Amino acid sequence: MTDPAADPGPIAFIGLGMMGLPMASRLVAAGFSVRGSDLSEQALAAFAAAGGIVCASARTAAQGTTIVITMLPNGSIVRDALLGSGGAALALAPGSLVIDMSSSAPMETRQLAEELSAREVFLVDAPVSGGVKRAVSGTLAIMAGGDPAQIERARPVLSAMGSTIIATGAPGSGHAVKALNNYVSAAGLVAACEAVLIAEKFGVDPNVLVDVLNVSTGKNNSTELKLKPFILSRTFASGFSMALMAKDLRTAADLSEQLGVDAEGARDAATLWAEASATLGKAADHTEIHRFVAGRSVKPEQGG
Ligand code: NAD
Repeated sequence: MTDPAADPGPIAFIGLGMMGLPMASRLVAAGFSVRGSDLSEQALAAFAAAGGIVCASARTAAQGTTIVITMLPNGSIVRDALLGSGGAALALAPGSLVIDMSSSAPMETRQLAEELSAREVFLVDAPVSGGVKRAVSGTLAIMAGGDPAQIERARPVLSAMGSTIIATGAPGSGHAVKALNNYVSAAGLVAACEAVLIAEKFGVDPNVLVDVLNVSTGKNNSTELKLKPFILSRTFASGFSMALMAKDLRTAADLSEQLGVDAEGARDAATLWAEASATLGKAADHTEIHRFVAGRSVKPEQGG
């Protein structure tokens, strides 16, 4: 920690998966004392190897802390890890702060903020973008919703994990912006995959197509960082699962519905990714959307 005056004491970190482990490791490396919990023994062993303090439950991890970070698959798991039996919030003193860095559903986050507030515990939703690579380098983009004073309180901790922290407004707004970001990102990825398939069919080397896109107006995060490393190489190893992306798109589509905004693209994206996730299974990486789109693109032979 660069500023000892900003030391919040030990921090609890719940959820040490593909993202949580490198993020918690950044906190340890920055000098924070980090108490971690996860359901996976493997995740806990890796956390111990990174210098973290392994705890048996979320509640145990939160004991003696005033800041709890969650990095879990979705908002209902976050709620359970905080307020269920053995939940972290049960160990927190009034005035403590929960920072939910998962990609949770914004309306659920509003509700959670109210429930925590009844216990005099603050909530900042601070989801991230940038994937595993930027979690490892501590250069995530962080979008933070909640009371500005609590975002400032969280800033020294967030700064150890991210290089950009943008306050987005009221509680839940970080999660809203995150779901919308992933909608735009997923739409760009599907467009890029379709472009590869069409170019190949025309006889254009897909690597050449990517080179052209990346110096042209079609450039996006997927053309730059996903097509060659994960899709054309067929490694499909970005570290972000298809199931989680499908969840984010469902969140974006639900949000549009809840707000009465007719967003056909978001609805279609949620349907497409749900089908892809159901077809390719739990272990699929989100970049395998290319395989799904390719499978769908083959038109049946014309009869007679
Ligand atoms: P992950 O599945 O790799 O990790 C989730 C971890 O949570 C697992 O280790 C699991 O054992 C643990 N867990 C589940 N339920 C638990 C509970 N009740 N108590 C304690 N631990 C529990 O997922 P991830 O890729 O690290 O993603 C985490 C969150 O970050 C998700 O909300 C995801 O949408 C978001 N996210 C992921 C990426 C990415 O590139 N992977 C990028 C940005 C945001």
